Amino acid sequence: MEDFLKFDGVTKQFGHLKAVDDVTLPINRGEIFSILGPSGCGKTTLLRMLAGFEAPDTGRILLAGEDITDQAPNVRKINTVFQTYALFPHMTVRENIAFGLKLRKLPKATIDQEVDKMLAMIQMEAHADKKPAQLSGGQKQRTAIARALVLKPSVLLLDEPLAALDLKLRQRMSLELSLIHDEVGITFVYVTHDQNEAMSISDHIAVMQNGKIEQVGTPAEIYEAPKSSFVAAFIGDTNFFDGTITRVLDSEYCEVEVPDLSKKLICFNDKKLVQGDSVHLSIRPEKFSISLDRPAENPRQNVLPAKVEDIVYQGDHTRYWVSIAEDWRVAVTRQHNRFLLDQRRITWGDQVFISWQADDSFMLEQYREKDEDLLQMPPQNVGEEVPGAAVTAPEPSDTSVAPADGQATGQEEASQQ
Ligand code: ATP
Repeated sequence: MEDFLKFDGVTKQFGHLKAVDDVTLPINRGEIFSILGPSGCGKTTLLRMLAGFEAPDTGRILLAGEDITDQAPNVRKINTVFQTYALFPHMTVRENIAFGLKLRKLPKATIDQEVDKMLAMIQMEAHADKKPAQLSGGQKQRTAIARALVLKPSVLLLDEPLAALDLKLRQRMSLELSLIHDEVGITFVYVTHDQNEAMSISDHIAVMQNGKIEQVGTPAEIYEAPKSSFVAAFIGDTNFFDGTITRVLDSEYCEVEVPDLSKKLICFNDKKLVQGDSVHLSIRPEKFSISLDRPAENPRQNVLPAKVEDIVYQGDHTRYWVSIAEDWRVAVTRQHNRFLLDQRRITWGDQVFISWQADDSFMLEQYREKDEDLLQMPPQNVGEEVPGAAVTAPEPSDTSVAPADGQATGQEEASQQ
C-alpha cells in the first residue's frame, strides 16, 4: 500500500532534549494509526509537527506525495481533536460544529445540511441546542470530533481524545470512534499512552520511547512478536528469561540453558540463532498453564515445577506469581472459564507446575535490563485469601488442573481551518 502520510527522518529538539529523534514513519491511507508510548516520549510533539504547530529541525513530512513540512496549519488538510475538547463555551453544539464552515463562508443551507449529517452520525440530534456546560464528557468529545470532521480533512489527529473520560465511557467512545472512522473512511492518527485503547482501535501502532520509534506493527504483531524488551514490557505484561543456546534441534526449535533453572527450555528459534548464542526470551503470563498435577509429556512443551507465592483474583482471570528458582518469580494468568467448578483451587504455598509451548517463548532482538522495571510487581499483601478460593473441597482424584483451553489469546487549540 502507498505511504499516504510520511514522517521522513524528522527530528525536533527543545534545548538539549531530542523530543523526536530521526523518526521515519509511513502511514497508510484510511487507517487508524496509533502512536503509543509513555509520558514524555515525544508523541504529542510528533502530532503537533503533523498539524503544523511545530516545525521539525530536520526531515520532511509528506501528505499524499506533497511536502507539507513548511505549510501553515490552516492550509493543511489536517484537523485535530484535543483531549481538552476546546469547544467554544458560549456556542451551542450546532454552532460549534458549524463554526469552521461559517468561516469558509459556505451558504447557510449547505452548512445546515452538513451539520445535520454530523449530528446524526454522532447521535447528538437531541442535544444540538445545548451549550458545552450542559453536556457530559462523552457528548463534548463527540461534538469536538464532529466539529473537526465536518471540515472534511484528509487526516484527523486525535491527541489523547478519551483521556478525560472514565473507563467505561472510554471503552464505549473508542468503539464509537472506530464506527465513525468506518463511516468517514479518512486517516486517523491517534496519540495515546493507553495500550488497551490503541490495541482495540488501531490498524497499526508505532511504539515510541525517548523520541524514537521502537516498533511499528499491527496490534497482534506488537503484542505477540515484540522486538525489544521495552515493547514487550510496555504493551501488556511479560516475563524475561535470559539464556544461551546449547543445541539447535532442527530447522525450527532449539534448546536454551537458563541459569538457575533445573531444566533446559525448548524454544521456537525464529531468529535462527546458533549454538553458543545468548538469547533473551519474553513469555507472556497468559501463555503459561498452571496446574497442580504434572502435565503430560510433550516434546514441544516446557514444564517447570514452581511454588505459588502470590495470587490476585481479578474477576475474569487470576494472576499468580510463582517462584521457579530462588528470588525468581514469574507472573502467570489463568482465565476463569471454570472457576466455580474447580474442585481444588490453587492457593498460596501450593507446589504447582507451569507449562508452555515452545512457540510461546518469544526471542527478543533487543534487551535492556531497566525495562524489567515496567513489569507488574506482585502486591505486598502476600497471604490474603482470594475471594471464593477457600480450600474446602476434599482432595479428589480428579484434582483440577489448568484447562487446556484456559489460556487467554492475548489479549488547546480549536481545530484549525
Ligand atoms: P505526554 O503523554 O505526557 O503528553 P508525550 O509523549 O506527548 O508526553 P511530548 O509532549 O511530545 O511527550 O514531549 C516530549 C519531550 O519534549 C518532553 O520531555 C517534554 O518536556 C519536551 N517538550 C515538549 N514540548 C516542549 C517545548 N515547547 N519546550 C521544551 N520542551 C518541550
